[in-house]
Amino acid sequence: MGFSTDAVHGGQEAEPVTGAVMTPIFQTSTYKQDGLGRHRGYEYARTNNPTRAALERNIAVLEKASHGVAFASGMSAISAVMHLCGEGDEIVITENVYGGTYRLAERVLRRYGLRFTFVDTTNLAAVESSFTSRTKLLFVETPTNPLLRVTDIHAVSAAAHSRGVLVAVDNTFLSPYFQNPLELGADIVVHSSTKYLNGHSDMVGGVVVTNDSDVAEKIRFVQNAVGAVPGPFDCWLALRGTKTLALRMRQHDANARHLALFLSRHPAVEKLYYPGLEDHPEHELAKRQARGFGGIVSVDVGGLERARHVLESVRLFTLAESLGGVESLICHPATMTHASVPEEFRKRLGITDGLVRLSVGIEDVEDLEADLSRSLEF
Ligand SMILES: *Cc1c(COP(=O)(O)O)cnc(C)c1O
Repeated sequence: MGFSTDAVHGGQEAEPVTGAVMTPIFQTSTYKQDGLGRHRGYEYARTNNPTRAALERNIAVLEKASHGVAFASGMSAISAVMHLCGEGDEIVITENVYGGTYRLAERVLRRYGLRFTFVDTTNLAAVESSFTSRTKLLFVETPTNPLLRVTDIHAVSAAAHSRGVLVAVDNTFLSPYFQNPLELGADIVVHSSTKYLNGHSDMVGGVVVTNDSDVAEKIRFVQNAVGAVPGPFDCWLALRGTKTLALRMRQHDANARHLALFLSRHPAVEKLYYPGLEDHPEHELAKRQARGFGGIVSVDVGGLERARHVLESVRLFTLAESLGGVESLICHPATMTHASVPEEFRKRLGITDGLVRLSVGIEDVEDLEADLSRSLEF
């Protein structure tokens, strides 16, 4: 089946009691058992819920995976993946990773004896030389936030597998519509379903998918044991969201291409970060590895005051954290999404005070361009 067909039908079946075409919101915490030790597959809603199960099957189909496990947030999904490791194990991570992932690693999990090595995963040799006999997991985010650097998933997966290291990819930025890391060799994919999968900025959620039954069993155990599960209403919202994922992603991508070109020619823009333009360092890789460039564009407008001017004078773009919704958002990574990353480290990555990140929505692109054009007049 094609992607759009899978998005609408994948893992979905009419509800058996009433024939409801859309999966209902099973708003219950527990289920009647037919007799001692006899139940219908559902005992308690932390462990299993039909609305959640429908979402898990749907996203698994979209990512070409056999198992999907949903979580209450992207962070709890990432945390569950990290739980595959124990005391003394090392995890190699993309250095320019989502700020919350950095915080989880450095401020929470390090205290439990996990070790983290942050490397530039766009550099294969750097990835290879960071592996030690204790490395258990390579955690890659690609494209990265907010600088949109692209890691070669196939190459780093091959290097990791030759050392027996598992590979997890945070695929939030491109969504399964544009990129399927499992097909490129990764073992695990995580998403913040808060972003493109749900796509309407009205819930927070996460998901882990894999084809590895052993990994799936461990992740499912953590889901139930730790208990960071999504409620049925949020699962229902995400499931409604994935049905239009293809339509939305096409529009996000088309609008972002248009705006990136406009910004690349704008005199107020000092530097543009967008994998769809030829001067991006991994443009060829991005074209080969994914079917589109996504909806995120970052620009450096040359200092905090200029960034402030842009952020405070836009009218259609909304100044807010997050991304991937139908509406266009604008944010200031240095003080917003990446405030938890130490200043030194931020500077080294290139997250300057003049950097502004756009999450390009699905509005009419002429209106978006006009808004940016006006805001870039200093
Ligand atoms: C938002 C985001 C997360 C965290 O997800 P939450 O749903 O906010 O917990 C992780 N990775 C990436 C790339 C994100 O954009």
